[in-house]
Amino acid sequence: MSKINSLQLYIGGEWVNSTSGETFQSNNPAKPTQILGVFQKGNKEDVDRAVETAERAFEKWSETPAPKRGLVLLKTAQLLRENKEKLARGVTMEMGKVIREARGDVQEAIDIAEYMAGEGRRLFGFTTPSELEKKFCMTLRMPIGICGLITPWNFPIAIPAWKIMTALICGNTIVFKPSSETPLCATRLVQMLELAGLPKGVLNMVIGPGDDVGMRIVKHPRVRAISFTGHKNTGALILQKAGLKRVGLEMGGKNGIIVMDDADLNLAVDGVIWGGYGTTGQRCTAASRVIVHKEIKEKFEIALVDRIKKLKIGNGLNPDTDVAPLISKAAQEKCARYTAIGKREGARLLVGGKIPKMEGFYFEPTLFTKCSIDMRITQEEIFGPIVSIISVGDMEESIEVMNSIEYGLSSAIYTRDINRALEAIMKIEAGIVYINSSTIGAEVHLPFGGIKHTGIGAREGGIEGINEFSETKTVYIDYSEKLQKAQIDHDFSLI
Ligand code: NAD
Repeated sequence: MSKINSLQLYIGGEWVNSTSGETFQSNNPAKPTQILGVFQKGNKEDVDRAVETAERAFEKWSETPAPKRGLVLLKTAQLLRENKEKLARGVTMEMGKVIREARGDVQEAIDIAEYMAGEGRRLFGFTTPSELEKKFCMTLRMPIGICGLITPWNFPIAIPAWKIMTALICGNTIVFKPSSETPLCATRLVQMLELAGLPKGVLNMVIGPGDDVGMRIVKHPRVRAISFTGHKNTGALILQKAGLKRVGLEMGGKNGIIVMDDADLNLAVDGVIWGGYGTTGQRCTAASRVIVHKEIKEKFEIALVDRIKKLKIGNGLNPDTDVAPLISKAAQEKCARYTAIGKREGARLLVGGKIPKMEGFYFEPTLFTKCSIDMRITQEEIFGPIVSIISVGDMEESIEVMNSIEYGLSSAIYTRDINRALEAIMKIEAGIVYINSSTIGAEVHLPFGGIKHTGIGAREGGIEGINEFSETKTVYIDYSEKLQKAQIDHDFSLI
């Protein structure tokens, strides 16, 4: 295995320099002067090299029995587990996430590797009766070919792992482009797969700018499928440019938590703290809107503000930290900008709203009240620790407010009334609904994804993930020894 800090591109099973020879740096958002590594900056030519090698590796990998492919995933899971603490520290240092959550990031990668390893013994198709005699019908799952995987920075190990493990078990080969904000985490994940014995050329990683490396992958005629997670504007562009290939898009969110007047308020406060300020609000499933019944609003706000004031801001490596830095200065400035917008729009700032005077890209956990659905702070994805409270009069209004956004990823309701819970499950326009827990908590064996401008139908995780990375082949076997014509030779006279 190459050294853990090789900081190169991974093409054809070798750690190589970019054809341009250009480099860039990755910094620690908690200590921006600390450089974590100098990375090769890939370009279009590097993507072309990666596609060629992925193409050469495809035949052998796709013909490797899926249970055997699964063994590489199992071995990867074992290596991830053995290196969990080191990898988690890397996540914290490169993207800022508090160390407990960084461990979760790595654990999710372990979970998906183990789950997909097991799928290698399933990858079910189905059999079904034919309408004709002596004819047998079934479906098979086939690999797609070369898959282009483009990932964001906010789950720098988990999201690449969700895509890589699923694409691999289905027999595809890969050109992977991680975010340039977190190249070290991506490199470490790829190193684990290399060490697990993944054959050369099956997985290739080209790090580099989205509009160069990413776009070349998207447009490359020999890349058969794109799986993208990131901002909706990037996703929209990818959809437009990908041409006739499969495109799976997982995009942003503006997730809401409904708190009804019969809710367990302490539990709801816990849910908002975790959903709104966990990962410093930098999750696609973060709860940035709280839709509260007017009868309990005041009591709820007092309890919530009290808890927010106790949150400790600091370096994610410190075990006492609750709110770690944002990914970049730009993200910090965006939070300040949206705070100003919220005030201008007439929302009332209850707590936070400032950049604390400390080194690193921190922003205070912020809460607005007296918000309405026509405000930008309740409509646009801020991706920071800023939560807005909207007051409602009844259940019907709460659903209306919940659905009044362009996104549809995650949602939650706190109520003790089963009828209200069921109403929410049926009426909320989102890919995920939680009852009496926060908007966060995906498990790898269930489908993950959203509707509206969050996604265009694809789901990751579980069997739905397998659907995204495999083609269905339909097979008819006629053993009648005569020409039988479907629809025409079928005898309908019995009905
Ligand atoms: P981003 O869209 O800026 O970048 C995502 C990836 O796309 C990066 O690798 C980037 O380099 C690449 N990219 C950028 N421009 C490109 C182009 N023109 N062509 C091809 N690739 C290009 O997003 P981000 O800031 O890294 O991540 C934050 C966003 O991701 C948020 O909107 C968040 O909600 C979303 N997200 C969604 C999910 C989900 O599962 N729905 C999960 C995590 C994050």
